[in-house]
Amino acid sequence: MPALPVNNPILINPIRKMPKSIAIIGAGTIGPDIGYYLKSALKDLTLVLIDINPQALTKAVDRIHAYVEKGLKRGKLSEQQAEAVRQNLVTSTDYAALADCDWVLEAATEDLGLKRKIFSQIEANIRPDALITSNTSSLPAEWLFSHLDHPERATVTHFFAPAFQNPVVEVIDWHGTNPGLSDYLRWFFGMTGKVPMITTDAVCFMLDRIFDNWCNEAALLLDIASPAQIDSVAMELVHAGPFFVLNFAHGNPIIVETNTVQAAEEGDHYTPAAIFNEVDRWDTNPPGSPVPVDSEIADKIRDRLLGILFSQTVDIMDRSIGSAADFDLGCRLAFAFKKGPLDLMQALGDEEVMRILQKFADYKPGMPQPKKSISEYLDFYRNILVDDVDGAKVITLRRPEAMNALHDQMTDEILSVIRAYENDPAVKGFVITGYGTQAFCAGADIGKFPTLLGDKAQSIDYAVSCSRLLVHLDSCPKPVIAALNGLALGGGLELATRCHGLVARENAWMQLPEVTLGIVPGIGAMVIPYRRWPEAAATFNRMLTQAEKLTAKQAHKIGMIAELVAEPQALIPAAIRQLDKLQGSQHEITGDPVQITGFEPSDGTSVNGQILSGEIIGIIEKAVAEAAACSSLDDALDVGYAAFGDSACTNAAGEGISAFQERRKPDFEKTG
Ligand code: NAD
Repeated sequence: MPALPVNNPILINPIRKMPKSIAIIGAGTIGPDIGYYLKSALKDLTLVLIDINPQALTKAVDRIHAYVEKGLKRGKLSEQQAEAVRQNLVTSTDYAALADCDWVLEAATEDLGLKRKIFSQIEANIRPDALITSNTSSLPAEWLFSHLDHPERATVTHFFAPAFQNPVVEVIDWHGTNPGLSDYLRWFFGMTGKVPMITTDAVCFMLDRIFDNWCNEAALLLDIASPAQIDSVAMELVHAGPFFVLNFAHGNPIIVETNTVQAAEEGDHYTPAAIFNEVDRWDTNPPGSPVPVDSEIADKIRDRLLGILFSQTVDIMDRSIGSAADFDLGCRLAFAFKKGPLDLMQALGDEEVMRILQKFADYKPGMPQPKKSISEYLDFYRNILVDDVDGAKVITLRRPEAMNALHDQMTDEILSVIRAYENDPAVKGFVITGYGTQAFCAGADIGKFPTLLGDKAQSIDYAVSCSRLLVHLDSCPKPVIAALNGLALGGGLELATRCHGLVARENAWMQLPEVTLGIVPGIGAMVIPYRRWPEAAATFNRMLTQAEKLTAKQAHKIGMIAELVAEPQALIPAAIRQLDKLQGSQHEITGDPVQITGFEPSDGTSVNGQILSGEIIGIIEKAVAEAAACSSLDDALDVGYAAFGDSACTNAAGEGISAFQERRKPDFEKTG
């Protein structure tokens, strides 16, 4: 396995096993939410909840049970999963209950003196091999743990509210800890559905420097506008304004704590607004219901909110508190920013960003200013991670909010890595995989396709442009393996089948859902599988015309998947074995015509019984037959692009795309 540092957490070789028993100290606002995430992710886990207040424990268990009920009602949990969460849930006011735990996670009141005492008490009660982590929002690990006998087994794991839904967890890499610990924790969080991010041991770490100062600046604006007005302007940038979020997370005391710490460490310009000590809840509007704001006031609010955002952003980057990609993704996922701050800076342009920063510096001297030109902060891969594993470049598609779906920027990032290393003798090939344990790639973003409906020529150009990565793979001098860690849909499956070999986890599956949207998969699905695995033509026909799913096990049987593995960690080694097998061999897709068999006439419905468009099915069947008869791959691919253009001109495509955008079922009975 690779040498450190590893970017994709699933590639980490962990120094410990999955924990069997975890304790949470502090059953207040966030402790029970962390507990619910842990119990949902690890079905046999024993969870011990400890609090000095017995009422807090009763409320915490009630809350976890209420989440279970909600999950059952919404069909998100099976009876069996619900029962697993309810079982092995222990509460206690006595730290002696920690004796058997593998990991103690502290989520008690944000107070340095109290937390240090709690850690001494924890250390006196746990096994020598047990881990300790803190969910502090602001206090560096060094302050929390340096008095312990064994600080090397302790660090900070910082969750965001609501902790069972919000995927981000900051893992702090500090000098006193065992070098393998932060990697183990990243591996653990990656395996249990979270998006871990490494940060240095700075006060407030990485993301809370944004959140706390954003909220604090919002409070400092209260002399010119109301909470609802400030939230309304903020909603141009985030889904929910700062005051709404503070109400939701009971965050006022935390802002006072965190900004007091920042002010003490870094200067008075971080001092928390006095009003936080006077107000419990803010009178504001929920997301999506802005109130009117006078345009001059709105400009002032916008400039100040952007000023604090950009000032903190350049500071975090200049001090290397975390990576640029984690930072932008973290702000989107943890705080629902519509764009990451760095992407926002890119969209506004250097001149406007500098105007905002200069104005902010005049208003609040001492706040960090950029140490280099704005464009120098913006050069990083936003949608992929790249790791070196045994001489291969492993490219991980990372858009967890969209199940790693492709879009133009991601496509170009993958291409740029392949172009950079395809002639490098030190690199034996590439592996493409998806972030997390659920999705390889859920297809392609709908992008500008809706604007092309009805225009055949432009739709064809669009399909050709979308296939630039796939066409490049056809002539790539080094092998490229798709490692399917989970579902591969539509464009994601077209990418996988264009790679020179495929490996998969046993629970991975594939589907071409386009027909259910009234369109066709135009960048290879009607061509490539038939040329590579012609004897499975009947399967591909059903996938195209009925959206039938193909499991990785079935795909293995028909020869599409070279190797199946059970465990996530076994996937990349299997991909590397395939790369080794393909060294020096040609990976051309045949240009010769292929014989297609088993085209059973469609009954016009999907495997789920959805009524489909007869016109679209007709376009697919015709394109598959024509492409198979072509005597060059280029001609066959052109047939696919043209069919995509035809489909874009049907009423079915208009209906399917509108239904998708309006989140309703399409009605193909009316379109034909
Ligand atoms: P809270 O005040 O709601 O709950 C704290 C709990 O700790 C209380 O139930 C209290 O009785 C208990 N407690 C106090 N002293 C204790 C002790 N000696 N032993 C055991 N239990 C003790 O606080 P919270 O909002 O849940 O925050 C907890 C921690 O998580 C803080 O460090 C906070 O900064 C951090 N955090 C909170 C959020 C959030 O959204 N609330 C988000 C990220 C991080």
